Amino acid sequence: MGKAATAEAAPVGVSGSTTTTETEKQAEQNHMVLKPAKQPVEKHRLDYKPPEFFIDFVDLDFDLYEDKTKVTSILTIHRRPQTPPTDLVLDGEDLDLESVELDGAALSLRSAETQKANQKAVYSLDVDGRLVIPADLLPEDAEKKFKLKTVVYVNPKENLQLMGLYKSGALLVTQCEAEGFRRITYFLDRPDVMSLFKVRLAADEKTSPVLLSNGNLVQSGKVEGEEGRHFAVFEDPFHKPCYLFALVAGDLKSIGDTFTTMSGRKVQVSIFSEPEDSSKLTWALESVMKSMKWDEDRFGREYDLDVFNVVCAKDFNMGAMENKGLNIFNAALLLADPATTTDAEYQRILNVIGHEYFHNWTGNRVTCRDWFQLTLKEGLTVFRDQLFTADMCSAAVKRIEDVIFLRSRQFAEDSGPMAHPIRPETYIAMDNFYTATVYDKGAEVIRMYHTLLGEAGFRKGMDLYFSRHDGQAVTCDDFRAAMADANNKDLTQFERWYLQAGTPEVEVVEAAFQPETKKYKLTLKQHTPPTPGQKEKKPFHIPIKIGLIGKNSKTDLLKPATMVLELTEAEQAFEIAVSEDCVLSFLRDFSAPVKVVHRQTDEEIAFLMAHDSDDFSKWQAAHTLASRLLKQRAEQWRETQGENVSFEPLPQTYVEAFKQTLLDTGRDRSIQAYTLRLPDRDGVAQDMDPIDPEALKEATESVRREVGRLLKTELLNVYASLSAPETETQESRDQSEVARRRLRNVVLYFLTGEKDKQAAEIAMKHFKSAKGMTEKYAALSILSDIEGRERTAALEQFYNDAKGDALVLDKWFAVQALSDVPNVTATVKALQKHADFTAKNPNRLRALIFSFTRNPQFHNKDGAGYALLADSVLEVDRFNPQIAARGAGAFLQWKKYGKTRQGEMLKQLRRIARTPGLSPDTLEIVQKALAGAPAETTA
Ligand SMILES: [Zn+2]
Repeated sequence: MGKAATAEAAPVGVSGSTTTTETEKQAEQNHMVLKPAKQPVEKHRLDYKPPEFFIDFVDLDFDLYEDKTKVTSILTIHRRPQTPPTDLVLDGEDLDLESVELDGAALSLRSAETQKANQKAVYSLDVDGRLVIPADLLPEDAEKKFKLKTVVYVNPKENLQLMGLYKSGALLVTQCEAEGFRRITYFLDRPDVMSLFKVRLAADEKTSPVLLSNGNLVQSGKVEGEEGRHFAVFEDPFHKPCYLFALVAGDLKSIGDTFTTMSGRKVQVSIFSEPEDSSKLTWALESVMKSMKWDEDRFGREYDLDVFNVVCAKDFNMGAMENKGLNIFNAALLLADPATTTDAEYQRILNVIGHEYFHNWTGNRVTCRDWFQLTLKEGLTVFRDQLFTADMCSAAVKRIEDVIFLRSRQFAEDSGPMAHPIRPETYIAMDNFYTATVYDKGAEVIRMYHTLLGEAGFRKGMDLYFSRHDGQAVTCDDFRAAMADANNKDLTQFERWYLQAGTPEVEVVEAAFQPETKKYKLTLKQHTPPTPGQKEKKPFHIPIKIGLIGKNSKTDLLKPATMVLELTEAEQAFEIAVSEDCVLSFLRDFSAPVKVVHRQTDEEIAFLMAHDSDDFSKWQAAHTLASRLLKQRAEQWRETQGENVSFEPLPQTYVEAFKQTLLDTGRDRSIQAYTLRLPDRDGVAQDMDPIDPEALKEATESVRREVGRLLKTELLNVYASLSAPETETQESRDQSEVARRRLRNVVLYFLTGEKDKQAAEIAMKHFKSAKGMTEKYAALSILSDIEGRERTAALEQFYNDAKGDALVLDKWFAVQALSDVPNVTATVKALQKHADFTAKNPNRLRALIFSFTRNPQFHNKDGAGYALLADSVLEVDRFNPQIAARGAGAFLQWKKYGKTRQGEMLKQLRRIARTPGLSPDTLEIVQKALAGAPAETTA
């Protein structure tokens, strides 16, 4: 599954009407009906047991109606060989059960009467809503197959959890990962039960002319005796776990193309959306075609069905879903048009299309044995989508973006109460473990195999993994074994990346050239801080990529230029033969997900910025220099809380380095842009104790203003040289144009730091002359921070230009939630009442509430921002626990803030925890957050 809908995979919140209303009471009652007194259960990885039954064949029949869909299921089942007879227990949730038949004979619900009558042909429902068929009704012989037929009704329209079968816009769609299939029919809802599926869909011809499910269409026509209804039957020739099941019904338009696979088979590729969006599907189609080709070229993986369908859904909890042959996408990650979509979004669509497509092999053909192994498919597929995007765009840029994300989001997770290994040991709600750790650190772990084994060795490991496990549900250990066996490499110690949580710290203890021996001596130490439940950590197996740049020659001394050191001990020394004294370029390409402690001087870092041959390392050097500066100023501001604070002038090393990068016209403009950009505040915050968001913002703004003043002439010249070509009518997709816009927007940022009249004017000009959304949105973001006429005019025009386009309106909400003008909390509250706001659409909720949690004003010491988020979490938890839990996640870091903010966050966490009927999802997050909290004092 692709994670969250927007690049800011922040948590969820909800709109808050502050008083308890009729609807709330109603919702509470519904809650009690839907969720009987069931205690959340913690599951443990080591408790895994193989399934007691297998489902060989699934015959599903859907009679689709938006408020009452009838689902008839006939399962062909057998017991696991060599096991004693036992009850059959099928998962089910929110299902209205009509009938149960076993091998053609009707069963009755067990009751006092059936017991009195000594009736044997009975089933029962347990406290968790599961369907239980007693062992004595089932064949004694394990191999003997039997058929279980159930008829249930579900209500897609009322399904606001967006798990199972639900209504999105005018469509009926499904989402089953992780445990949504049990909301469609009774089943063994676990990934190690893999079955063949045949699916019949029947629906109204007018409202649902298009019917889709996994696999190949084998039959279609009119439903006899039912005026105006039609049907379609699909067969999927591949065994799959039920989380990969999907159906879509609705009025859809599509565009398509034919892909010829490496063995010459023709595949019909189609991208579907509701008619009003069908002009925005071209980029997605191009992206699919590129993905299919790339997976053949780079990994030798060929697509296996005759059709590949992708469908756009407007209401979607996550990013996208890799259902076999029928991917379903959040509209935000599929629809693209230069007038409404930024360059960053274009790239993200390409990336996520690739991600879901690549799952066909890493996830679908070889799947996970249990949900603890989620990173087996996600870490691996994120790594594959990273390679893909790097090949399609720029490798250095993609790496920079991924590292920024990892450091700000995943490192935060690693140091908080939810810290977990990439393969978690326990969970209550699996939906809470679609995390940056499982996905992004998981991808870093796969990248380390690649670094240790090399491109060819990694490919050998992948080939062995596929040939050993095609058609199976396997574990992370199986993957590691394939990598080790294919390369005859001992990866025993490497398992610790799967067992231990937390971010390792690697310290450069000694790094010195020894002139008498012409050796460079490097001593490294590693240490991993404790995380909840794991006090002591053992050393990891860490690949460290280094380069050495000659102080005189100013060139790489190593051949090849980059060397991989394998750090396996707590402390370890290396000696490398070199011809002259040199500067260490450490952890090139960010070869391991670690924090580096390296006391390099500013001068040495500036030397690397100028002379390192590696683009990523150059950026890294600039980033280190700027981070030091921000951190130092933020600390200074925090000590006095801004009272009479006056910062030292910017160091000459920094200003010079900035100027050199700005004027270096020979470089890739994207790298230039990233090198100039100030570090992500969330990333710098991870090194601050306590975190003070206001101080960080003030520090960042002070550097921005000062750079703008000192280098005004240079910035203005560069800005002018980056104007769009005269002939351009809309933003072009050409990579050099993308880079030009990226750099121009960064220069604009530094030119407008004073936030005065002049700044507003230049930003307004940028806004008005924009040829597409990239420049328009960049200008709007800047204008939204400057109070005045221009701000009002730009926001109004942006809203009007949107003409109701949902994805553009999301941007309009987000930019206001992230704004730096005073009283944003009140603005967000007012926007919750805006006619275009709804908490029921996850994208809209993320745009307003999640974006707000990234605004420093969310942390205002009066606690109003926190209260707003908690209101939202409580409201949304009633209908969409998965999203509510993400919202509550914004409080997980409470311990890292100062006393006042801690107190306010705890107040809200406790308020949420005390609320009756809380979902297991949200409960798990707040319980983990409160685990280390001091006892509550009576205030
Ligand atoms: Zn995925």
